[in-house]
Amino acid sequence: MNTERLYPVRIFCDFDGTISTKDIGYDLFDQFGDQSPWHDDLIDGRIGIRDYWRGVARTLRQPLTNELLEEYFQTIPIDPDFSSILELVREENVPFTVLSDGLSIYVRRYLSLHGFDDLDIICNEAWTDEEGNLNIRFPYSSDGCDCPSAVCKRNVVLTHSTPNERIIYIGDGLSDFCPAETADVIFAKGNLASYCNRNGLPHHSWKHLSEVVPELRKLLAKRRIRARHQAEMVRKRVWESG
Ligand SMILES: [Mg+2]
Ligand SMILES: [Zn+2]
Repeated sequence: MNTERLYPVRIFCDFDGTISTKDIGYDLFDQFGDQSPWHDDLIDGRIGIRDYWRGVARTLRQPLTNELLEEYFQTIPIDPDFSSILELVREENVPFTVLSDGLSIYVRRYLSLHGFDDLDIICNEAWTDEEGNLNIRFPYSSDGCDCPSAVCKRNVVLTHSTPNERIIYIGDGLSDFCPAETADVIFAKGNLASYCNRNGLPHHSWKHLSEVVPELRKLLAKRRIRARHQAEMVRKRVWESG
């Protein structure tokens, strides 16, 4: 029997609150800066994530040095089953991308601190300059999407996949709404699960990655993962609009 997969599969996974057990992007600036009024403005839709990041970056009371970050990271546990997810995708030879609307200064370093140095990571780029200021660069655009994100995850999913691939998405928050629309299989918790429920998006709900692992294993063992019709329509529409 030919057990080779009929369609290639690709997985995209959020970082904050999905891999890290806390939203580091929020918590870091809450501890070392000031969230007001930026966070309220973001939640109420008055500003997008770019202005939010630029705004909170200016509120920092001290530079985000390597030492400060490493000490701070010790206070945020990583989901202990993230490593099981990575083991599984390696066994199954499935491409896996960490997709975050957060900042490289914590996303990359946090993962590296936990020994994950060779991951494919897409996020906003941030660095502390010699004067101790936090600089941020936004290399990804949200062209054609209504989301408030700086990294429009939908656009990244579509530019990093091919039309015959099946997309699996794992996430929990606001920036995961637009990519979930394009995914064939959605693993959702928190606000993303509520969004899926409100919008009739079928999804696997989860609280800890330990619940995702067996479902993902079953899924990847299949020769054929079904395309989700609505997701195919969204992908087609976005691809055609360029
Ligand atoms: Mg998140
Ligand atoms: Zn978007």
